[in-house]
Amino acid sequence: MIQTIGILGGGQLGRMMALAARAMGYKIVVLDPTPNCPCGQIADKQILAEFDDVDAAKELLDSCDVITYEFENVNLNVANALLAKLPQTSRLLEITQNRIVEKEEIRKAGLKTVEYFAITSADILEQFVIDYKKNPRKLIIKTAQGGYDGKGQNVINNIEDLSLFEKANYNPKIQYVAEDFTKFEKELSVVVCRNKNGETSVFPVAENIHKNQILFQSIVPARLPDDVEKMAVNVATQLATHINLVGTLAIELFLCGDKLVVNELAPRPHNSGHYTMNACITSQFEQHIRAVCNLKLGDTKLVSPCVMLNILGEDKHLMNRENIGKHKLHLYGKVEAKNGRKMGHINVLADSIDKCLIEVEKLINSNQ
Ligand code: ADP
Ligand code: MG
Repeated sequence: MIQTIGILGGGQLGRMMALAARAMGYKIVVLDPTPNCPCGQIADKQILAEFDDVDAAKELLDSCDVITYEFENVNLNVANALLAKLPQTSRLLEITQNRIVEKEEIRKAGLKTVEYFAITSADILEQFVIDYKKNPRKLIIKTAQGGYDGKGQNVINNIEDLSLFEKANYNPKIQYVAEDFTKFEKELSVVVCRNKNGETSVFPVAENIHKNQILFQSIVPARLPDDVEKMAVNVATQLATHINLVGTLAIELFLCGDKLVVNELAPRPHNSGHYTMNACITSQFEQHIRAVCNLKLGDTKLVSPCVMLNILGEDKHLMNRENIGKHKLHLYGKVEAKNGRKMGHINVLADSIDKCLIEVEKLINSNQ
C-alpha cells in the first residue's frame, strides 16, 4: 500500500499536491534545492539537492512508495532512474519538454496546432528569413525548451524584427519554433486526469485571460456554446488516450472561429485549474494524487461559478489577508515577492460569473 509520496520539485504545484495528499493521510518527501521552498514547508521531509543529482533521486526512490513531479523540465536521466516508482513514466516529459516534439505529437493525435516552423539550425533560420520576405506576417518565435510565462518569446511584426532577432537574439545552440501569430476569440484550458486502470476524468473548461503573457484570471464555467465545451472535453480525452496518460495533462487551447487549436501542453496540474480547489467536488491536486496512486478518481463536478485571480509579486494588497474578505485565499509561502512571480491566488465564488467578476474588480482596486 502506498504510504509515502515523493515529489520532484518544491514549488507551489508540489505544495498543493502535498496538501491534498496529506488530507488523504499520505506522507510527503520532496526533492528541491531551495531550503524552505513552498512544498518543503509542509512536507514530512525535504531532500536538499539539485534536480540533476541522480544520487539524491535514488534517495527519494528509497524513501517513498510512489513518485510524481510538479514541473515538466525534469532531467530525463533522473526520471529514468526513478521509473520503478514513476507511474507517469518519462514519455510525457519528453514530449512536453520540447515545443517542436509536442506540436508533432498533438498533430499525430489528430488535433490542430497553430501554423509553425521549426528553427533547428542557423542555416534553416537563414532560409526561413528568405522565405519570410515572400510571406511577411506577424510571428511569435519561442525557444523550443525551457520557456514559461512568456519567457523566451520574441514577437516579430516585420522583416526588421526578424533580422534583429537573427542578429541579436538568436542562439544557434538552441532550437526555436516560429509560430504564426493567431487571432483567437478566447483562450481556454482543460485539465484531464487518468489512472493506470485507464479511468479518465476531465475538469470543466476554463476561460483564461492573460496579461503580459502571464495568466491573470480564469473564468469557470467558460462563456462558451455547449458544443465548444464538448469539443474541448473531446480534445482532452483524445490526447489522454493517445499518449496513454497516467497522472494529469493540462491543455491550453485557442478558440479560433468554431475551431479549437492546441497551444501547449503541461504534464501536471495547471495554474488555470486552481479554481477546482474551491469550485469543484474534487480539486485537480487531489485528482492528480488519486491518478498517480491508481485510486478511483473523484467527481469533477463544478459546484459554483468561480473566477480565479492570480497574485503576482507586485500585488502586495492581495497578499494581505484582511483585504480578501470571504474569498478563498491561497498563498504559496514564497519568501521573496519579485515582480511577475506567482505568490498565490484567490478563488472568488458567487451565483454567477458576473457577480464573481464584480468581486474580483473590488479586490483588484482594494489598494486605491
Ligand atoms: P508559456 O509556456 O510561456 O505559457 P505560451 O505558448 O502559452 O507559452 O504563450 C503564452 C501566451 O502568449 C499564451 O497564453 C497566449 O496568450 C500568447 N500566445 C502564445 N502563442 C501565441 C500565438 N501563436 N499567437 C497568439 N498569441 C500567442
Ligand atoms: Mg502557456
